[in-house]
Amino acid sequence: MQEAALARRQLTNDMRGALVEQQYRIYYQPIIHLPSNRIAKAEALIRWQHPAHGLIYPDAFIPIAEETGIISDIGEWVYRTATQQAAHWRTGYFKDFQISINKSPAQLQQNGNRLVAWCKQLQKTELPGEGVVVEITEGMLMEASDDIKSILLAYRDAGIQVALDDFGTGYSSLSYLSRFDIDYIKIDQSFIRNMATSKDDMDLCEAIVAMAHKLGLKVVAEGVETEEQKALLIKIGCDFAQGFLFSKPLPPEEFEELLKKMSGET
Ligand code: C2E
Ligand code: CA
Ligand code: CA
Repeated sequence: MQEAALARRQLTNDMRGALVEQQYRIYYQPIIHLPSNRIAKAEALIRWQHPAHGLIYPDAFIPIAEETGIISDIGEWVYRTATQQAAHWRTGYFKDFQISINKSPAQLQQNGNRLVAWCKQLQKTELPGEGVVVEITEGMLMEASDDIKSILLAYRDAGIQVALDDFGTGYSSLSYLSRFDIDYIKIDQSFIRNMATSKDDMDLCEAIVAMAHKLGLKVVAEGVETEEQKALLIKIGCDFAQGFLFSKPLPPEEFEELLKKMSGET
């Protein structure tokens, strides 16, 4: 236990330095518009190129960053970097491209006035709010108070869209969907994984899509790995899909290659 605590403390220290040392990277995973089979968006996913431990995935450090509050600075860096990148891709490739950015509850709590900074940042990158989707989880809405409501309203005023991540794993309360301004539901990969083999999961996905559409929301399926899953999702009218079938998360240069290839196909 003592060893674990020590390792954790070391990681926390390293995490503080990592911003200054420019060790964080953003990988981009395409989100495909199913009816047209084209890239519509990308999700920004952070990685940490640690000098001693190599590439570290977010599950290994984001929770600690949240507990220690370092997440604010990291989150701001992610936002700045990803929006700049998206602005570049919108001008260079296609103008409706959107960047989807994860935001943990801890970030939102400390975020009242940082939101203003975000909006200013957007203006600086010449990326309109329409170019950004913020991914939040249900946990955020549960703790929710008027604060969250006003933050979500501020997003809407700035043109920023909101996606509810990991849908189906939590309470999946239907009342959230109508009470808050949500634009997308992301069906959790655990349901997609089994949809071809489990009738229950298949029915559940179909019901989520139908319900979302009824409420005026679009649906993104996460963790799509097979052609069979893709075909089923098209069949039930799912709007977007993301997963290893299309591409794993890529460093910016490689993602740009993908965009280039795609625009060459037109
Ligand atoms: P998430 O938001 O649910 O992101 C989706 C995760 O699924 C990513 O893991 C992605 O690489 C992985 N994935 C995508 N397609 C497939 C697939 O077809 N099959 C499988 N098995 N997995 C797939 P990753 O990049 O390790 O990120 C893990 C989590 O870390 C994210 O889950 C998100 O909650 C968090 N995270 C990542 N970047 C950020 C960030 O910038 N800020 C915050 N606050 N959290 C972040
Ligand atoms: Ca996400
Ligand atoms: Ca997710």
